[in-house]
Amino acid sequence: MSAEIIDQANELVEHNLAIAIQAARLNHDAVSAETCSECGEAIDERRRIAVPGCKTCASCQPVGLGD
Ligand SMILES: [Zn+2]
Repeated sequence: MSAEIIDQANELVEHNLAIAIQAARLNHDAVSAETCSECGEAIDERRRIAVPGCKTCASCQPVGLGD
């Protein structure tokens, strides 16, 4: 394996890490909705804390987005 390939792999890892950190920061600053945008029900406070920035209740959460 050449050093160039290792450099490229390292760059990829750093790039992915930067994106993950950015996403975590965005989520941390996000404000959770108090009521579900889908059904209008109040969102459980534990869910609002556990999933910063959530807009829906647990039953209405979008599937496959890791929310
Ligand atoms: Zn809902």
